[in-house]
Amino acid sequence: MSDHKSHQSQISANARTGPPRTIAVSTHNPADCTPAHACGGHSVGHAHGPGCAHEVVKHGDHTDYVVDGRLHHPCAKRCDDHGPVEGK
Ligand SMILES: [Zn+2]
Ligand SMILES: [Zn+2]
Ligand SMILES: [Zn+2]
Ligand SMILES: [Zn+2]
Repeated sequence: MSDHKSHQSQISANARTGPPRTIAVSTHNPADCTPAHACGGHSVGHAHGPGCAHEVVKHGDHTDYVVDGRLHHPCAKRCDDHGPVEGK
């Protein structure tokens, strides 16, 4: 009996730690600009992107990065704060 049900991988990314988490846009995690957000947790001028040390999370239709348990969204030369990330 071949019981070999392989998970279909639609994403052929080099996902070593599995696909990124997905978080829906909500009042808890708004996709807003927060110009007053002072980035803590990483150096000023750090540019989030592929290869940076922060976990990538899909937030609605864009990509955010987890810094100190919060979603950071690169915007202009700083980050927007898209709310806390639940769980681990
Ligand atoms: Zn913004
Ligand atoms: Zn980063
Ligand atoms: Zn976001
Ligand atoms: Zn930031």
